[in-house]
Amino acid sequence: MRRSALVTGASRGIGRAIAAALAREGWSVCVNYLESRDAAGELVRDLRARGLAAMAFQADVADRKAVDAMVRAAAAELGPVELLVNNAGISHQGLFQDLDGETWDRLLAVNLTGPRNAVQAVLPHMLSEKRGCVVNISSIWGLRGGSCETAYAVTKAGLIGLTRSLALELAPSGIRVNCVAPGCVETDMVRALGEDTRRMLAEETPLGRLGRPEEIAEAVAFLASEKAAFITGQVLTADGGFIA
Ligand code: NAP
Repeated sequence: MRRSALVTGASRGIGRAIAAALAREGWSVCVNYLESRDAAGELVRDLRARGLAAMAFQADVADRKAVDAMVRAAAAELGPVELLVNNAGISHQGLFQDLDGETWDRLLAVNLTGPRNAVQAVLPHMLSEKRGCVVNISSIWGLRGGSCETAYAVTKAGLIGLTRSLALELAPSGIRVNCVAPGCVETDMVRALGEDTRRMLAEETPLGRLGRPEEIAEAVAFLASEKAAFITGQVLTADGGFIA
């Protein structure tokens, strides 16, 4: 029987590639989006056309009620969520001294409270079944810090703390919690930095290029699979050697 996965922020970029990879691996996938309704719908149509089970659901991960509704809808249409990928995220560049409270609060709400909301929404079923898997998408900036991206780096470091703590707490219940820390990946988030920064990041990456969303998706698919059955509480860095 197909098992059900929820990928947050799956309309574009890394989340979209993760949803597609998991569907190919046999997961029924709930494609969460915030604003990109058409893109999410197009992905779902594409997956269904290939005989794969998928649905789209609009929800702001920062909104606990919306996340609860999404998890209920996914359970009703695809089956209870057994794999959660906390991918939805936003970034912000600027000097820390200029960072306003609203921006700080929104970064924490989406990048950190969002995963909290989603984990708490899927946990009752996972705990009752004594099985389940969570993969959080952090960042290399969460590992080493990021100049002019302090709030973002704080949230991504927090996700690593969440991963390691939940892994310990949930291991006795048969639930694995891991994390992927991507380096610089070719998505809208990096394209927004401009062509010069994009080129500089590619040059700074020992492999000499930005990563592709599909390469991050492969790491997630591995951690979600039975091949990783004895792996929990880990941070898998996929960064072309950036912080090697
Ligand atoms: P992206 O291209 O900007 O896409 C972000 C995705 O998140 C979109 O699908 C967006 O949905 C969704 N999203 C944003 N806010 C949301 C919210 N409040 N609720 C639900 N969905 C929301 O970003 P990306 O580069 O693919 O990044 C994906 C994840 O990887 C993020 O957590 C990011 O921090 C992390 N990451 C990225 C890189 C990189 O180099 N790209 C490196 C390290 C880590 P809509 O379009 O529907 O609004």
